[in-house]
Amino acid sequence: MKPRKHALVTGGSRGIGAAAVIALANEGFAVTFFYRKNAYLADQVVAQVRRLGRDAMAYAVDVSDFSAVSHAVKQSMLEFGAVDLLVSNAGVSDISLFTDVTPEAFNKMIDTHLVGLFNVSQAVLPGMISRKTGNIVTISSIWGMTGASCEVTYSMTKAGIIGYTKALAQELGPSGIRVNCVAPGLIDTEMNSGLTVKDLQEICDQTPLGRMGTAQEVADVIVYLASEKSSFITGQVISPNGGLIT
Ligand code: NDP
Repeated sequence: MKPRKHALVTGGSRGIGAAAVIALANEGFAVTFFYRKNAYLADQVVAQVRRLGRDAMAYAVDVSDFSAVSHAVKQSMLEFGAVDLLVSNAGVSDISLFTDVTPEAFNKMIDTHLVGLFNVSQAVLPGMISRKTGNIVTISSIWGMTGASCEVTYSMTKAGIIGYTKALAQELGPSGIRVNCVAPGLIDTEMNSGLTVKDLQEICDQTPLGRMGTAQEVADVIVYLASEKSSFITGQVISPNGGLIT
């Protein structure tokens, strides 16, 4: 029997993160996930994984808090061993004119998307480098590739995640560590609950496949990048987006 691997997923209490937690558990990973505040949802995801006969643990950890991240990663390794796979998924959206973005809202975007990615990476990488094996999957967005009006701070931080992915893949390839990015198009999750039906329909109309994607469809790409089937892929951006950009 193959030894069980340990995956760490940030933002695993709902949406794409929750689908990734369940999909990775189904693939045999023991999964640790972080969420920020919704313990009820997190408990439901853990229960769903345990019903599959797999293991998961949830920690209420804000990814922007370096010491909380570092402490929780150490705790999780006592239970599930060294982290083999990091899925850096936690994210927030902010739809505003750029001139209306407050410094506080800007800092939240940077803290969640970029500081958070730095923090979780710093917590898992020393172990991966010393073991000369590891896998990181980052979650950007189609808007990090094209830019989106009224989502300038979201687009700029999501573009930063792509820069991280490409640079770190080069730095860590010789250490046996792969780093790839998933940049989804419009996905049917809570994150888009602030968009009007008209806004959603407009994006679907521009999408060749004519609909939003599902969290499961993004989780399927994450599982592929987490698997040995993608063993020669690193530094790449894969965009499940229904053909919205090609
Ligand atoms: P959701 O809003 O449904 O879920 C976000 C998750 O991130 C929640 O579990 C939330 O926990 C967690 N989270 C947010 N901030 C923090 C933080 N500071 N520390 C720890 N956890 C945090 O989002 P989606 O599932 O839609 O999105 C997941 C990722 O995919 C994001 O990075 C997003 O930008 C990206 N994406 C989404 C798209 C979409 O159309 N939905 C399209 C392209 C990219 P809690 O609820 O407890 O705060």
